[in-house]
Amino acid sequence: MACVSYSYAAPVSQTLFDRAAAVTPGGVNSPVRAFRAVGGTPRFMVSGDGPYLTDADGREYVDLVCSWGPMILGHSHPEVTAAVQAAVARGTSFGTPGEGEVELAEEIVARVAPVEQVRLVSSGTEATMSAIRLARGFTGRSKVIKFAGCYHGHVDALLAAAGSGVATFGLPDTPGVTGAQAGETVVLPYNDLEAVRAAFAAHPGEIACVITEASAGNMGVVPPLPGFNAGLKQLCSDHGALYISDEVMTGFRVSRAGWFGLDGVEPDLMTFGKVMGGGFPAAAFGGRTDVMERLAPAGPVYQAGTLSGNPVATAAGVAQLRLLDDAAYARVDAASERLRAMVTEALSKEGVAHRVQVAGNMFSVFFTADEVTDYEKAKAQEAFRFTAFFHSMLSQGVYLPPSAFESWFVSTTHDEKALERVAAALPGAARAAAEATE
Ligand code: PLP
Repeated sequence: MACVSYSYAAPVSQTLFDRAAAVTPGGVNSPVRAFRAVGGTPRFMVSGDGPYLTDADGREYVDLVCSWGPMILGHSHPEVTAAVQAAVARGTSFGTPGEGEVELAEEIVARVAPVEQVRLVSSGTEATMSAIRLARGFTGRSKVIKFAGCYHGHVDALLAAAGSGVATFGLPDTPGVTGAQAGETVVLPYNDLEAVRAAFAAHPGEIACVITEASAGNMGVVPPLPGFNAGLKQLCSDHGALYISDEVMTGFRVSRAGWFGLDGVEPDLMTFGKVMGGGFPAAAFGGRTDVMERLAPAGPVYQAGTLSGNPVATAAGVAQLRLLDDAAYARVDAASERLRAMVTEALSKEGVAHRVQVAGNMFSVFFTADEVTDYEKAKAQEAFRFTAFFHSMLSQGVYLPPSAFESWFVSTTHDEKALERVAAALPGAARAAAEATE
């Protein structure tokens, strides 16, 4: 596409959004899609091809969201599409065991050493919810430690991020989660091992598990400080609790074996989603056999799902994972590195205080001069600059996550041509960020 010009109005998206708002709360089926953090009309996408998305007004964007992570091979990858079409032609759901489930489980077990057994589910939320139930069932304990700013899906007990410090029990973040549901959750500051040590001391024999994002990506990208994950693992094993690493975002994205492939810390349980579903609803949790075999029907901890291991979703996941070899990760890493350099150059040229924080090939841009190591620091950034930056990029045909607190994602298909289009948009966006006022 030689020369694309983008006018800013999006009349067809606006009409669709108005229709959606009449029949769906807020017009969306997942809140962040509504653009509330940045304002404006969410774009209704109609098709995707490699690194590009096309909206209902016929405008094309370089996609730096990749469906929030799953589309690591780009949109409409021909081999994934063929695998899905073949699966659909054989039938879409049987409610019986099928070979695709075995293949996907084998692929996961082969890639991620700490996972000896795996159970397939349909969303990351289900994976973390089930892993916590299993940890409680296995240990016979009730309390869960989580970290402020880490998101593990909309599990009742994990929607407690308010408060920090050893003695602070989570207060529900949302109406509908009761104090009892959140009250067993201890919320601590991310990257603070002392706080975890103190929490174990304050609640001897009560903590079932610590759940953490393998590398935090839901408050922007905030990697674990050196030794943090290893320290969590050690504290868990010292106190008879399970260490659950949530790799829904990082799994099969930042390396063949996800974040585990980069830091080597062995969790007791792990959760996966996004990339492993190839763009379909497939997720999983897995880990040590002695823990996993407590699950029904092998053991007493109940967990189930009508569409778990769906044949179309597993066909997509298997096809995608089999295409993700070392060369594929090298391409994603290189695109991410190039993009980070371009963003840094553009923002530096305009004198905009910022930090590009990186976790493997995931990264995000914080509008602050200071290193961000926890949620409090993430919230201290000048998010209003992101809003200006976002809208400038959008108007120039680059689709960023519509929030300053989300990771950017690239794919194997983000080639020179796509990155050049981002490069062309960056100076204007950097200027907009520099000129933005609160
Ligand atoms: N865990 C992490 C780390 C996530 O990033 C997400 C979603 O973004 C989830 C769990 C929940 O996954 P899902 O949206 O598939 O329920």
